[in-house]
Amino acid sequence: MRLKSIKLAGFKSFVDPTTVSFPTNLSAVVGPNGCGKSNVIDAVRWVMGESSAKHLRGESMTDVIFNGSNGRKPVGQASIELVFDNTEGKLVGEFAQFNEISIRRKVTREAQSFYYLNGTKCRRRDITDLFLGTGLGPRSYAIIEQGMISKLIESKPEELRVFLEEAAGISKYKERRKDTERR
Ligand code: ATP
Ligand code: MG
Repeated sequence: MRLKSIKLAGFKSFVDPTTVSFPTNLSAVVGPNGCGKSNVIDAVRWVMGESSAKHLRGESMTDVIFNGSNGRKPVGQASIELVFDNTEGKLVGEFAQFNEISIRRKVTREAQSFYYLNGTKCRRRDITDLFLGTGLGPRSYAIIEQGMISKLIESKPEELRVFLEEAAGISKYKERRKDTERR
C-alpha cells in the first residue's frame, strides 16, 4: 500500500489546509530547520492511531492542534487525512475492493478524537486493525526515526520480538486473542 497524499489542517504548524502529495515511490521532504518536516511524519503516525503525545513530541494530545503564532490565533481542531493506493489489493477483508483507502482523524480542544475510514465514522480500533500485519501502523517499522536503529540494536529480546511478530504477520492474531481474553 502506497501513501498517495496527506491532507493537513490545523495540525501543528500546518494551520491552513495543505495537501502533500507523494506521486512516486520515492519522495523526499526537504527544507530548513523548523519548517515542519518532522510534523509531516508526526501527522502520519497520529492518524494511524498513535495515542502517546510524547511519541508526537508533545505533552498532551491537544498539543497537535495549531496553537497560534505571530499574527495567527490558535484554532479549535486538527484534522489529518491519509490517502493510500490499494490498487495492488494488499488489504484483506471488506476494504480489499477499494482502490483508494482514506483514513482521517480529527481532534478537538476538548481532546475528543474522531476517526473516519473512507469517509465513514469508525473507532480507533478499526484503523489499527486495518494496518495490523501490514507493517504499517503508529509504532511499526514502516517509520524509522532518528535513533530508532540504535534503539533496536540495544532493545531487550522481548521488545525486538514485537517487531519480528509484526513482520511475520503474527501480531494481528495476538491482538485478537488478547481481545477475546478480555471479554
Ligand atoms: P528540523 O530540520 O530541525 O528537524 P523540522 O522541519 O523537522 O525541523 P518540525 O519539528 O517538523 O521541523 O517543526 C517545528 C515547527 O513546528 C516549530 O516551528 C514549531 O513551533 C511548530 N509547531 C509544532 N507544534 C505546533 C503547534 N501545535 N502549533 C503551531 N506550531 C507548532
Ligand atoms: Mg525534524
